[in-house]
Amino acid sequence: MKDLQNIVLDLIEATKKHEQYRNKECINMIASEGTKSPAVCQMLDISHDLSTRYAEGDNNTEGHVKKRYYQGQKYSSQIEDHTTDAIKSLFHTTWADIRLISGTHANTATFKGLATASKNNKMIVTPLSCGAHISHDYTGLSGSILCLSNINHVYNINEFNIDTDKTAHVIRATKPGIVTFGGSLFLFPHPIKELKETCNEVGAYIAYDAAHVLGLIAGGQFQDPLREGADFITASTHKTFPGPQGGVIMGIPDTPTKEKAVRKIQHAVFPLTASSTHLGRLPALGIACLEMKLFGQELATQIVKNAQTAGQYLYENDVKVVAEHKGFTKSHQIALDIKTYGGGNKIAQDLEDANIILNKNLLPYDDQNDKENPTGLRVGFQDVTRHGMKEGDIKHLCDLMMDIIKGKRTPEQVKIDVMALKKEFSQVKYGFQSVEEALKYIKS
Ligand SMILES: *Cc1c(COP(=O)(O)O)cnc(C)c1O
Repeated sequence: MKDLQNIVLDLIEATKKHEQYRNKECINMIASEGTKSPAVCQMLDISHDLSTRYAEGDNNTEGHVKKRYYQGQKYSSQIEDHTTDAIKSLFHTTWADIRLISGTHANTATFKGLATASKNNKMIVTPLSCGAHISHDYTGLSGSILCLSNINHVYNINEFNIDTDKTAHVIRATKPGIVTFGGSLFLFPHPIKELKETCNEVGAYIAYDAAHVLGLIAGGQFQDPLREGADFITASTHKTFPGPQGGVIMGIPDTPTKEKAVRKIQHAVFPLTASSTHLGRLPALGIACLEMKLFGQELATQIVKNAQTAGQYLYENDVKVVAEHKGFTKSHQIALDIKTYGGGNKIAQDLEDANIILNKNLLPYDDQNDKENPTGLRVGFQDVTRHGMKEGDIKHLCDLMMDIIKGKRTPEQVKIDVMALKKEFSQVKYGFQSVEEALKYIKS
């Protein structure tokens, strides 16, 4: 074992190397990773005291601070309230909880709260193999920690979506307390509108997991879950939504049933699952909300356009992109089936060797007992778009990817071009370059 000084020396060096590698030398296409603007980063940098503080306590049904257990909170309580108001304003909700430290935490509190409110622990989820997050699954948070009993949406593999009619039968037959929508491999809007009435019939709450698509929703370029009938949205604040890492729950509790649910969810936040709520991220989250209000529509439109452009271009060049008959995607991601080129493991590694970072992904029709050998890749376009890439740049990037996928050039050769491309797109667009710039904008 090395002594501690040397461990820390290595730690510092690895940290510096990581920042250089992933931020300066690699092109990021992992669909779950967002891009903070310089202003959001700067706000984090000036919130260090805040990130040492505690603020345990209760909130009211507007999401504002009601009671805190410690002294010294006159500004931190304001900061919580202002951040809550910022996100409520952006998403037009009357309630939000921003104390969640991640999307999984948001799901923990929401699933627990809704199961308690409905006195029913049956929850309908998309199958894991069809794009749900592990936190929805019986092998994950939902089953193993919350002990909810999962029932699957019927999924139509050809349509890459939930089968509305068959699922309606399942809902009527099983009478769940919660029906979830949303996912991690998430190409097309889920049928909330179509299933809303059936959920009402059996008294099920609808929870929509917007972790991946929150930024697209903010920009008005994906389904608007609360307007389509979802009772609550849970999300991460750092995927297509370009804030600091964290979580959020939102809703419009305009009925006694929903108000009861809010109280149960809040109880599941504190005291059940949160102590420190990581206050230091809140001011930065507020700035990200303003950026999305101002630039979100333009950003989200370009993200989806870029994803669709890549889908079409790769498809025309003999790479199998799933859901071709549906235009490949309506979100920030596409899914490639690269079985004929060597499978997800090999191609994801070759792309990494060329400094293009993405993840292999099991596709719905893959052998679910062979999770180690997925045929797919999931490709996200939110990061390259925020760095300013447009359709032409995306095609160039796809050419580099295809050099690897088809084995035309070695990863070492392609890496040189990837690093050059990254240099060209090193600035973050659709946001403020500093807190000062945001202030100037607000006051002008
Ligand atoms: C990423 C993700 C989560 C978990 O969010 P974290 O912020 O990583 O905890 C939850 N649900 C879905 C659908 C996700 O993709």
